[in-house]
Amino acid sequence: MSQNQNHKEKVKVIDHLQASKEETLISFEVLPPLKGGSIDSIFNCLDPLMEFKPPFIDVTYHREEFVYNQRPSGYYEKTAIRKRPGTVGICASIMHRYGVDAVPHLICGGFSIEETENALIDLKFLGIDNVLALRGDARHFEDKFVPEPNGHKYAVDLVNQITDMNNGIYLDASIENGSKSEFCIGVAGYPEKHFESPNLEVDLMFTKKKIEAGADYIVTQMFFDNKRYFKFVDACRNAGIHVPIIPGLKPLTRDYQLNSIPRRFFIDMPDELASEVLKAKSKDAVKEIGVEWCVAQSKELKQAGVPCLHYYTMGDSTTTKKIVSAL
Ligand code: FAD
Repeated sequence: MSQNQNHKEKVKVIDHLQASKEETLISFEVLPPLKGGSIDSIFNCLDPLMEFKPPFIDVTYHREEFVYNQRPSGYYEKTAIRKRPGTVGICASIMHRYGVDAVPHLICGGFSIEETENALIDLKFLGIDNVLALRGDARHFEDKFVPEPNGHKYAVDLVNQITDMNNGIYLDASIENGSKSEFCIGVAGYPEKHFESPNLEVDLMFTKKKIEAGADYIVTQMFFDNKRYFKFVDACRNAGIHVPIIPGLKPLTRDYQLNSIPRRFFIDMPDELASEVLKAKSKDAVKEIGVEWCVAQSKELKQAGVPCLHYYTMGDSTTTKKIVSAL
C-alpha cells in the first residue's frame, strides 16, 4: 500500500468485520515506543506489514508506573513515570500515513471519569471512532487494581460511559443535545479466564455485561492452544454472547517465554510446544518452532472461519511478516 493515503473514509472495526463476510481479515497491535524513542519505530514495524492490508491497527495504552530511586541519604523516593506515552498521537499518525483505521486502547486505571470524558472528546475530534475499552492492571507494588478516586472500577463502567457519549449524554447534566460520538467499542475476552475470576462462567457473566453495555466485539487474550479459543467461543455463544470474537495471537520467540508468558498472562503452554522448545538446540531453532506453531494456529483458525487474525507484533515485524506470509 502506498503511504500518506489520508483520504480514506473512516470505517468502524465492526463494519470491517461484517463487510469481510467469508474472508478472514488480518490486523496488528503495536506498542508506543519507550519515552525518548521516535515514531519511526512504529512506522518501521508497520511499513513491511501494510502489504497484508490490515483494515485496522490497535495501539496499546500504558499507564504510569511507580519507580523507587535511592537518594544520597539512603531513603528511596517514589516517582511516577509513563514509559510509553503517545497512544492517541500514534493513532492519528497511523490513520494519516496509511489511511487505515486505528484503535486506541483506553483504560480505567489512572483516569477519573472526567478525564475519561476529555480523552474521548479528543478522540472524537481527531476522527478516531474505534476504541478498545479495558480496565488495566494493578501497578507494580500494588497487589490489586486500584481505580482512581472517581474513576471506573471495571471495563463495563467505561463501556457504559462511551455508550452514553454515543447517545449524546455527557457527565455535565446541563449539556442538552450534546453531539453524539460514534465509537465502535471492543472489549477483552479471556479463553483461559481472567486471572482474578473465580471461574470461566463468572468471567463470562461479566464479559456479557460489557456486551450488554454496548460493546461491539471481543478481542481475546493470546493463547497457544486453539482448543481453548474454540471452547471459549462455544461458551460465549451458550451464554448469549453473539458478537464477533477476534483471536489474539503472539508467537513464542525465546525459550524463557515458556515460563514468562504463563506468569504474565495466566495462560498455559501446550505440552507439545513446550517439549519441542525444551529440545531446541539454539535460539534460532526456538524461534522457528514458535513461528511454525503460530502459523499452524493461524491456519486452523482461518480454516474455521474466524473473522480476523489479530497479531500482537511487540514491534517485531520480521517475525509477524513471516507468519502472515505463510498463510
Ligand atoms: P474487566 O472486564 O473489568 O474484568 C476484570 C476482572 O473483573 C475480571 O476478572 C472480571 O471477571 C471481573 N469483573 C468484571 N466486572 C465485574 C463486576 N461488576 N464485579 C466483580 N467482578 C467483575 N492493559 C493495559 O494496561 N493497556 C492495554 O493497552 C491493554 N490491552 C489489552 C488488550 C487485550 C486484547 C487484552 C486481552 C488485554 C489488554 N490489557 C491491556 C490488559 C487488561 O487491562 C487486563 O487484562 C486487566 O486485568 C483486565 O482488563 P479487562 O478490561 O478485561 O477488565
